[in-house]
Amino acid sequence: MFAKRIGIDLGTANCLVWLAGEGIVLNEPTVVAVSEEDNRVLAVGNEAKEMLGRTPDNIIAKRPMREGVIADYVVTEAMLRYFIQTVSGSRWFRPEVMVCVPAGVTQVERRAVLDATMSAGAKAAYLIDEPIAAAIGANLPIAEARGNMVLDMGGGASESAVISLGGVVVHRSVRVAGNKLDEAIVNYLRRKHNLLVGEQTAEQVKIQIGTAWQEDKPKAMEVKGQDAISGLPRTVTVTSTQIAQALQPELMRIVSRVQEVLEHTPPELAADIIDKGVVMTGGTALLRNFNKLLTHEIGVPFHVADEALLCVARGTGIALENLDLYKRAITQK
Ligand code: ADP
Ligand code: MG
Repeated sequence: MFAKRIGIDLGTANCLVWLAGEGIVLNEPTVVAVSEEDNRVLAVGNEAKEMLGRTPDNIIAKRPMREGVIADYVVTEAMLRYFIQTVSGSRWFRPEVMVCVPAGVTQVERRAVLDATMSAGAKAAYLIDEPIAAAIGANLPIAEARGNMVLDMGGGASESAVISLGGVVVHRSVRVAGNKLDEAIVNYLRRKHNLLVGEQTAEQVKIQIGTAWQEDKPKAMEVKGQDAISGLPRTVTVTSTQIAQALQPELMRIVSRVQEVLEHTPPELAADIIDKGVVMTGGTALLRNFNKLLTHEIGVPFHVADEALLCVARGTGIALENLDLYKRAITQK
């Protein structure tokens, strides 16, 4: 039988699965619903997210990944098993699986992901450094002896790396990404408008009107929440200018981390990056005008990759289909 091979982007916010020969076949939120009594897994992904708020109190939703690494081993394994079985179409079929991990994770954390993948039903497990996967997925020619730089920003962390000859030369990460931006909006609305909102509402505000740079024609949006004093429902109008201000401190933390990467990059490679610029991937790369802020602050051009949310999964899959080509960046179990 034709051996199935699957690549998994195990993100803090979203999990994507690539099936060799087909492409991305699954794209679901990284959420698992478990029963409170015995920690039994009841649902995974979209189904688990839909259960949120519509189920009895004894069902809780867990996010097994935090800041790009496994926070809950049992739940992560359950999630991997669900993906592997769904995509293999059988409980008995054991595919080869490649999972991406942030370049900054420790050997112990790498081992944990490999072990979780094996016990979730893989025949063989491989890891690839996430910046490499992001770069491959964004079509950067990373095997060349030239400098390529990526900035991947998801839900829990932002990671930036310079790659040359298929390996990571310099990298830095910071635990600031989409979730911290949502929190900044929650805090802003409470402080400035006495309005209490949940993180999902804050995320909608971010996606709808959020921007990293003040615009000539600001956007406005009505936000529904609860008055912090009276406890009654209330609606407030917020503008993109206000949201840009609320996001600024967090965005600048990412900017300074990216600057550090360039400061530690060997001059020859830095020269390549000045020419070619930096490619942004991940959902937070889609924050409007973030490339403009980065270009302005760092003085190197930043571009958002096509289909930024899919780059890591696509790169993981392409690496899996070309193991020899990318072996420098791959760990195998
Ligand atoms: P991860 O790799 O951590 O799973 P993703 O790359 O899937 O994360 O990105 C998810 C993050 O991207 C979330 O925080 C989400 O709010 C954010 N996001 C998605 N679309 C947009 C957008 N258009 N503008 C700003 N942020 C966005
Ligand atoms: Mg990601």
